[in-house]
Amino acid sequence: ESKARAKGHFTLFVGEMDARYLERQRLKEDLRAAVENGDITVVYQPMFTPDGREIRCCEALARWHHPEKGPVAPNIFIQIAEEMGIVSAITLHVLRRACSDCRTWPEGLSVSVNLSVQDLRSQGLVDSLKTILAETGLVAQRLHLEVTESSLIEELSSARAILEQLRSLGITIAIDDFGTGFSSLSYLDTLPIDVVKIDRSFVRDIGENKRRLKLLRGIVHLSRGLDLSIVVEGVENREQLALLSKHHCADLIQGYVFSTPISPVAVTELARNVQARNGKGDAVVA
Ligand code: C2E
Ligand code: MG
Ligand code: MG
Ligand code: MG
Repeated sequence: ESKARAKGHFTLFVGEMDARYLERQRLKEDLRAAVENGDITVVYQPMFTPDGREIRCCEALARWHHPEKGPVAPNIFIQIAEEMGIVSAITLHVLRRACSDCRTWPEGLSVSVNLSVQDLRSQGLVDSLKTILAETGLVAQRLHLEVTESSLIEELSSARAILEQLRSLGITIAIDDFGTGFSSLSYLDTLPIDVVKIDRSFVRDIGENKRRLKLLRGIVHLSRGLDLSIVVEGVENREQLALLSKHHCADLIQGYVFSTPISPVAVTELARNVQARNGKGDAVVA
């Protein structure tokens, strides 16, 4: 009897595995089609000065709206694209959109694009980037690229060579999700990096957790000492914003407290509104 039951469980388990496997295969096929058809769209999340008076940069974030499933989270479809070896096609697509959208914004605004670990493995990205900048007419100084701590460590030697070339073009390099990888802090000094984006896990409970705030302040102090500029991500409320401002923890703030990701046209409107409010002397968030 127990054997039969065990067998039953096993069959059920295999059935579930099959269903999940098939579902994943379907998603892969659909993603391939979406990439080929240019169905990946891009939204932009502004980075504000802590006083809320200026937008300096916007992060380009990929979006995929599946015809039946609706929106699929980028964390999920980027990982699938990496497994399939097609993530660089998404990077190039997002780069093209981001550079041409940035051209429509006020000149003080830059755009920041995420790279995948696979983009750091080959020379191809540098040449494609030159072409995209030339075609869109965006100056390299307005383009920022974000690489995660973990992908840097995974591809340290090739990443260094590629980042150095990108930087010599005038592109700004940011290290993303800082503090979540295996931080060997020495690479902050030895890699060509300009910006540290501190992961939102460091911000979440700074109101309640004094040690967390101390840790954040330590990271900020260390980064500033190396002439890196600091973006704090995932700032959701005014309490967090006030603490970060009080302790001078950020050069720029990215988070729901100021704005969620928005369309390229909405970026232009928001930048205009922020400018107009400055004229009246009010901060956006006071
Ligand atoms: P990321 O690069 O760290 O992007 C920031 C993520 O945090 C975005 O999620 C953004 O919507 C979210 N976020 C911003 N402010 C807040 C906040 O105040 N609270 C909370 N809880 N979340 C906030 P999103 O758009 O879902 O992207 C998730 C990740 O997917 C990104 O993390 C990035 O690693 C990846 N990704 C997105 N677009 C691309 C892309 O074009 N290429 C690559 N390679 N990866 C991408
Ligand atoms: Mg990012
Ligand atoms: Mg990030
Ligand atoms: Mg992240």
